[in-house]
Amino acid sequence: MITIALSKGRIFEETRPLLAAAGIHPAEDPEASRKLIILTNREDVRLLIVRATDVPTYVQHGGADMGIAGKDVLIEHGGDGLYQPLDLRIARCQMMVAVREGYDYAGRVKEGARIRVATKYVNTAREHFASKGVHVDLIKLYGSMELAPLVGLADAIVDLVSTGGTLKANGLVAVEHITNISSRLVVNQASLKTKRKLLQPVFDVFAGAIKE
Ligand code: ATP
Ligand code: MG
Repeated sequence: MITIALSKGRIFEETRPLLAAAGIHPAEDPEASRKLIILTNREDVRLLIVRATDVPTYVQHGGADMGIAGKDVLIEHGGDGLYQPLDLRIARCQMMVAVREGYDYAGRVKEGARIRVATKYVNTAREHFASKGVHVDLIKLYGSMELAPLVGLADAIVDLVSTGGTLKANGLVAVEHITNISSRLVVNQASLKTKRKLLQPVFDVFAGAIKE
């Protein structure tokens, strides 16, 4: 049996064609179903539906043999105990620093001011600002980061940006690129040894189905 951990939404939708290429068809639509274990047409493959941030944890501890997680989530998790054989190039976006329109980010940095940064990506943010020698106070949030600069909770946010539509709708602008993000295949290290025969064909099909 192979157990694959996935999150609903964007990652599930972009993984569906990869699964199909491997001959794996979910028996139910996880968006419509309340079930957290979704069976497939293959008796030896099942899907676990978990929060995006929980995918590495399930795979690390063997709750799932493999999973698909964003690089953003993997950086925060640390990647301990995970084998990461493939960048699937799905769910692509950028990790950026953004501020309110009119906020002089470059000027504040130049003065050596302390900048208050709200984000759910505290490890990524800490590392980024430390490497640039920028002094920051980090404020941990779990979502809707765009709100923080609008109500004076923070001067800046670190968040994922794809089209920039959400930033724009909230009067924010991106001022610094941190890193490119995409989703990766993560595999439990014990499963890799004990279930190689089952897993390898799936890796091979996924590798062949990656879009440029
Ligand atoms: P929720 O939105 O339910 O709180 P979440 O933010 O963890 O959960 P998603 O927004 O579905 O879940 O994001 C899941 C993954 O998709 C992220 O970890 C990231 O890798 C990727 N992602 C997030 N935002 C974007 C985006 N705008 N464009 C492309 N990929 C994205
Ligand atoms: Mg989200």
